[in-house]
Amino acid sequence: MQYKVNCLVMERLKNAEECFYGNEKKKSIREWIENMPVSIDSIKDAQERLARFASLIRFYFPETRERDGIIESPLTCISLMKEQLKNELGIAAPGQLFLKQDSHLAVAGSVKARGGIYEVLKHTEDLLVQEMGWDINEDYALLAEKKYRDFLSQYTIQVGSTGNLGMSIGIMSAKLGYKVIVHMSSDAKDWKKNLLRQSGVTVMEYADDYSKAVEEGRKMSQMDKNSYFVDDENSINLFLGYTVAAFRLQEQLKEMNIPVDEEHPLFLYIPCGVGGAPGGITYGVKYVFQENAYCYFVEPTQACCMLLGMASGEHNGISVKDIGLSGKTEADGLAVARPSRLVGKFMEPILDGLFTVEDKYLFRYMKQLYETEGIFIEPSACAGFAGYCNLFQQSITKDYPKVSGIEKKAYQGTHIVWATGGSLVPEEEKKKYLGMALEENGWNI
Ligand SMILES: *Cc1c(COP(=O)(O)O)cnc(C)c1O
Repeated sequence: MQYKVNCLVMERLKNAEECFYGNEKKKSIREWIENMPVSIDSIKDAQERLARFASLIRFYFPETRERDGIIESPLTCISLMKEQLKNELGIAAPGQLFLKQDSHLAVAGSVKARGGIYEVLKHTEDLLVQEMGWDINEDYALLAEKKYRDFLSQYTIQVGSTGNLGMSIGIMSAKLGYKVIVHMSSDAKDWKKNLLRQSGVTVMEYADDYSKAVEEGRKMSQMDKNSYFVDDENSINLFLGYTVAAFRLQEQLKEMNIPVDEEHPLFLYIPCGVGGAPGGITYGVKYVFQENAYCYFVEPTQACCMLLGMASGEHNGISVKDIGLSGKTEADGLAVARPSRLVGKFMEPILDGLFTVEDKYLFRYMKQLYETEGIFIEPSACAGFAGYCNLFQQSITKDYPKVSGIEKKAYQGTHIVWATGGSLVPEEEKKKYLGMALEENGWNI
């Protein structure tokens, strides 16, 4: 790509100013497909595993019956929101705007219902095959029987989380019969801890950030041979769970008669924490739609770990704290100071770019979406809007759209803001958040 990285990016990052980084290491799709670090077979395998477990999921979580035990979210056209953004912010607002409502995924109410649940199921199947001679052609609904639950109850699952991963792992593992310990960082909201405790999960709290919670959890799990640690900073299985989203999205677009081709490219804007969720989704989407898909991540200005890791080439070798940022944000799902060890490198050849956003805008988008479309999503989940709104803001992306040739295409394209969480937020908390939207933006009530 000809686009030259603005040397001001680092300065802006340090000053916690909103900025954009166009990935200069992107390769041609052909070249990437020939050297994919994670094979398509393993993604297909993940998809098949989820299908095998569908009868059990359907049994345990009646809300998934409509989709026959497959946990998937709606893709919703949000034209009222688009108009609102255009009028209120005066942005270009290209193409058709959609919301991918992973905020409303069954069981966990966030994008973590993809990766987190997949990893628990994968581990469960491995255990059953190794220790119980389980036949993968059996009906998985049988796993609700006492014999299997008793077996799984000898094992522990542990995870470190800012909240949502803990909820997805915790809810699913407890349901299957496991003992569960969730190590929560200081960012985690009380209602998430309470909800987990009510489900029989042990919650350990740390005064420190997410990396610390992960580190402690990893240590504790290593001391117990019957314990399995879901490692958000290193897990390939989590990543695989997220990649499956791309095939589901492809089906949905087809059903809705929305073309994706050279004349009608697809633009994805995804909130990024440690990178697993947006990374997995992007990985699958780039395989499915190839050069017709453009993917952008969005991070809070104070927790821009993936942008920092990619722009510096240091990946997990650098923390936002090393450049004087706090890592703290109201977007608790994105409060991560150091990116995944795996994902940054996976993204180098394919990701198009990364944006940062100030917290106050997250609240603003949250309120606008609620008022125009009647959809509530949590602040973290609103980050994608900043990508859509800023792609053509000269002050942020400079000449990137022109140089990378997406300027015209974007107007004929489909734009998807990936909403990553929110449907489990209690009513009281929603009201608090919507009140904060007013405060953060200095609006009168
Ligand atoms: C976890 C999470 C993300 C980001 O996923 P990562 O894998 O941490 O990058 C985004 N939004 C919400 C609401 C989340 O819970």
